[in-house]
Amino acid sequence: MSLKENLDRIKQQLAPHKVTLVAVSKTHPAEKIQELYDLGQRHFGENKVQELVEKYEVLPKDIKWHLIGHLQTNKVKYIAPFVHLIHSADTVKLIQEIEKQGAKNSRVIDCLLQIYIANEETKFGMDEAEAEAFLTSSIYADLKNVRICGLMGMASNVDDENQIRAEFVGLKKFYDKLKTQYFANKPEFEILSMGMSGDYMMAIEEGSNMVRVGSAIFGEREYFKL
Ligand SMILES: *Cc1c(COP(=O)(O)O)cnc(C)c1O
Repeated sequence: MSLKENLDRIKQQLAPHKVTLVAVSKTHPAEKIQELYDLGQRHFGENKVQELVEKYEVLPKDIKWHLIGHLQTNKVKYIAPFVHLIHSADTVKLIQEIEKQGAKNSRVIDCLLQIYIANEETKFGMDEAEAEAFLTSSIYADLKNVRICGLMGMASNVDDENQIRAEFVGLKKFYDKLKTQYFANKPEFEILSMGMSGDYMMAIEEGSNMVRVGSAIFGEREYFKL
């Protein structure tokens, strides 16, 4: 399957829904991103800061770059000037650093709170209590250069569809609760980023409006090859 065929197929599946497709281009060369760009794709996601910056520098400047992977505080400064959306705001300390770098760059940086929904040790994210503690804190109230625009979650890496679905349902429920309780007057809180290549249609059924799709567009990532 070509990139175009993969993109067309996925866009066709998403068409009946109001969903933003983030093409996850990590490990893939800039030429492939350019190929998708030429087909009209504008949202791309990367999980490593250095790779994101290198691609930003050589590719068209109207690409909307999403940082989807764990972000270290000391690397925020490299992406602060241009990043479109940080999906992985997972600690208060990180959000404070994004605030600082947003101010330095005279911009408001849109972020999603990454919520831990998986039944695994290895995934990053806040739990529900941490997220609510943050939203009721003065640190949150005082933010000027960070805008919290929604939530991101990653389901467990398992074959059990019922478990994955239950994790998506749980995140949607929490998203709805936060929207009512903390964001009633903030229309920018409107993004629920959940779903990857293996589960994006299920995520959409359960309320996702932003999917992060890598291998279903690009094929397998290089580092999976022997
Ligand atoms: C790599 C990655 C994806 C995309 O994974 P695929 O299974 O290739 O679609 C989505 N979200 C995050 C956070 C990722 O790191």
